[in-house]
Amino acid sequence: MRVPFLDLNAHHHAIQDEILAAIREVIESSAFAGGPFVAKFEEDFAAYCHTRFAAGVGSGTDALWLALMACGIGAGDEVITVPNSFLATAEAISVSGAAPVFVDVNPQTYTMDPELLEAAITPRTKAIIPVHLFGQMADMDPIMEIARRRKLLVIEDACQAHGAEYKGRRAGSIGHAGCFSFYPGKNLGAMGEAGAVVTNDPAVQEKIRVLRDHGQRAKYHHSHIGWNARMDGIQGAVLRVKLKELDRSNAARRSHARLYENHLGNRGDLITPKEAEYGTHVYHVYAVRVKGRDQLQRALTDRGIASGIHYPIPIHLQEAYGHLKLGRGSFPVVERCAEEFLSLPMFPELTPEQIETVVREINSHLSLAKSAHACAV
Ligand SMILES: *Cc1c(COP(=O)(O)O)cnc(C)c1O
Repeated sequence: MRVPFLDLNAHHHAIQDEILAAIREVIESSAFAGGPFVAKFEEDFAAYCHTRFAAGVGSGTDALWLALMACGIGAGDEVITVPNSFLATAEAISVSGAAPVFVDVNPQTYTMDPELLEAAITPRTKAIIPVHLFGQMADMDPIMEIARRRKLLVIEDACQAHGAEYKGRRAGSIGHAGCFSFYPGKNLGAMGEAGAVVTNDPAVQEKIRVLRDHGQRAKYHHSHIGWNARMDGIQGAVLRVKLKELDRSNAARRSHARLYENHLGNRGDLITPKEAEYGTHVYHVYAVRVKGRDQLQRALTDRGIASGIHYPIPIHLQEAYGHLKLGRGSFPVVERCAEEFLSLPMFPELTPEQIETVVREINSHLSLAKSAHACAV
């Protein structure tokens, strides 16, 4: 049995007619760039996130740098984040004109370790961007406490955590602003590129609405230098249909994670993801940790089972951030995880049979590896 990493076709099959009708409506009203379909989605998404506002933008990367710009962060400032994220988190900081400063992560949740935060703060620090990696939120209470005490802003990178919760509060609703990506493979995915910033602060909301549209308050009246970071009307319409499915999809992901855990949780040679007591994990990515990860991945590929690595090179070791001169050994937890992480197939339509196939192949490879090791000794 072949098992794909992700199956968007299966995901769209059941709602295809509703999506086509929504797209037709956009075409008939020619509301392609921003406009009423985006506005309706913004209302629905703010309600979903338990925030006052949502602003639709072009991508998750746009969301991050617009949130930074709207918070007045730029040249000469420092923003603290983690090196185990998609590059966009650090990239948005750099493009805003500020400098990223990294801290290591908690080895159980793989999210920002609040204990390391204080030591990274300097007089230039303006903001903290915790990343809710793989669908699990960072430990927000201590992060917010430090931010309040040191007068820093918190911008949540919630690009992998649509619907995740921390002590009953939704991802994106705790910090000053929360940033989402609707890249097609995310838990809530558009049919193209899209993103959003959620916030309870009317000033941040207003600034983002202006900045995403060339700094215009009224047509051809530019109060700020912004950019074109509008959301497409078609994406707004599609996302509005798909948002209704999000809770059901997240529940399916959680049930798949339980099944993986039942089968793999007791192996001594593989670490399954742990859900922190403080929250609800929405398993955007189901990453296990294993020594000999590359061999396991090759064995799975040979059996038709797709997998991923999130992410093979931590941001501080990327060529693009060579100028920071942060060598190997700077962030031991992140670096070790980068060598051991293997992301298994995870999407709402995954079947128990597919999960059992993945588990069977993992067990058989790891037992073989163990007996080969025993022979060599
Ligand atoms: C996907 C992602 C982004 C970027 O989102 P895009 O929509 O691809 O620009 C940023 N941060 C994290 C953690 C992501 O997973």
